[in-house]
Amino acid sequence: MKKSTKIIIVGAGPIGCYLGQLLVQMGFDPLLLEEHSEVGKPVQCAGIVGRGVFEEMRIPISKKPILNEIAGANVAFNGSSFVLNRSKVAYIIDREMFDKELSSSLNIEFNTQLIEAHPIKDGYILKTNNGEYFANLVIGADGPNSKVRKSLNFVSDMKLYRGYQYRVKMTPKQQDFVDVHYVKPFSLFTWVIPEGNGTVRVGTICNNPYQELADFMEKTGISGEIVEKNAGAIPIGTCQLVRDNAALVGDAACQVKPITSGGIYYGMKSAELLADAIKEGDLASYQKRWSEEFEQEIRVCLLVRYIMENMGDDVLLKIFSYVKDNANLIEKIGDFENHSSVLWSLVLNPRTYPTIGSLLMGMAKNPKFILRSLLRLPR
Ligand SMILES: Cc1cc2nc3c(=O)[nH]c(=O)nc-3n(C[C@H](O)[C@H](O)[C@H](O)COP(=O)(O)OP(=O)(O)OC[C@H]3O[C@@H](n4cnc5c(N)ncnc54)[C@H](O)[C@@H]3O)c2cc1C
Repeated sequence: MKKSTKIIIVGAGPIGCYLGQLLVQMGFDPLLLEEHSEVGKPVQCAGIVGRGVFEEMRIPISKKPILNEIAGANVAFNGSSFVLNRSKVAYIIDREMFDKELSSSLNIEFNTQLIEAHPIKDGYILKTNNGEYFANLVIGADGPNSKVRKSLNFVSDMKLYRGYQYRVKMTPKQQDFVDVHYVKPFSLFTWVIPEGNGTVRVGTICNNPYQELADFMEKTGISGEIVEKNAGAIPIGTCQLVRDNAALVGDAACQVKPITSGGIYYGMKSAELLADAIKEGDLASYQKRWSEEFEQEIRVCLLVRYIMENMGDDVLLKIFSYVKDNANLIEKIGDFENHSSVLWSLVLNPRTYPTIGSLLMGMAKNPKFILRSLLRLPR
C-alpha cells in the first residue's frame, strides 16, 4: 500500500493506538478518531495481562503502567476450591495509563464519534458528529459495539456479555494472588484482584452483574470505600475481519479469549498481523494469517465455553473437581494466553476418561445440544 494512502483508525483504545504506532513505524500517517475527549477513559477493564503483553510485542511497551505482579490464583466453584501457583504469571496494570502510553504522539481527533461509514469509489466517507472524513482505508478499532462493523455489514456471530467492577479501598489477604470464583453457568466468574497499593478490583462477568457483585461482596465480607465503578461489554464469538478496503481489529473484531474474556493480548497481536497486511498492500492476507494464528484456539475455547454453559451442576462439579485434582498440570503447562494446550493435555490423559464419560452422558440427554456442539467443532 502506498504511504500516501489515507488511513483512518476509528477508536483510540489500546488496540487502535498500538496499530497506529505500528503503522507510523512503517511510514504511514494514520489518523485516529476518538469519541471521548481523552484516551483511556472511561476504564472498562480488570487490567490483568500476561507477561506476553510486555515481552512479546514488536514495539517495546512501556512498563510504567504495571502496578503489581501476580504469582497465582485461588479458584473456587460451589464451595470447592484450589490454588494455582505460578510466579510472575501476570501483571496488574493501570489501564488508563497503559492506553495513554500507547497513544503517545499519535494523530488523534478527539470528541469525534463515527456515526456511519459509507463506501464510495476508492474509499469511504465517515460521517461523524464532527463533520465528514474521507479514507482510502478504514480500520474499526472501536470496541465491542463497533459502528464500523455494523455500518459496513461485517458478518459476525457473537454475544455481548456484561462486566462490572468496583475498585475498593481495602487490604487483600494476599497481595500477589487473584481470586476467581466461577458462577453458574460455568463460563461466568467473579474476581478479586489486588492492585498492590491498598486497593482491590472486585468485578464480575455475568448475566446480572450488579446483583451478583453486591451478593458476592456481602457473602465474602468485602467492604471499604468504593473509589471507582467500571462497566463494559465483552464480545465473545467470531467475526469477519476484512471487507473490501475496511478491516476490524481488537474487540470490534471479537478478538477476545473465550474462556477468560481477556482481549488485550489477542488484540495487540492481531494488530501486528493487520499492520503487516497494510504494509504489503494485501489487506485480505490479514484474515488468512489471523485464522492460521488464532482461529483454531478460539474455536476450541468457544466449544468448551458452549459445553460449560449448557451442563448441569452435577457434571460441572465433576469437571471442577477433576481440574482441581490436576492443578499441578495446569501450573506446569498452563499458558496465560493459550488455553487449548491445557485442555488437550487434560483430555488426552486417561485419568480424564471417567469425567469425559460423565460429560458425554450429560450431553446424551440432550441430542439438540450434541448437534449444536458438533456444529461448533473447529474446522
Ligand atoms: C469489565 C471488563 C474487564 C476486562 N478485563 C480484562 C482484563 O483483565 N484483561 C484483558 O486483557 N482484557 C480485559 N477486558 C477486555 C479489554 O478491556 C478489551 O479487550 C480491550 O479494551 C479491547 O481494546 P480495543 O482497543 O479493541 O477496544 P476498546 O478498549 O473498547 O476501545 C475502543 C475505543 O473506541 C472508541 N470508540 C467506540 N466507538 C466509537 C465511535 N463510534 N467513534 C469513535 N470512537 C469510538 C472508544 O471510546 C474507545 O476509546 C475486560 C473488559 C471488561 C468489560
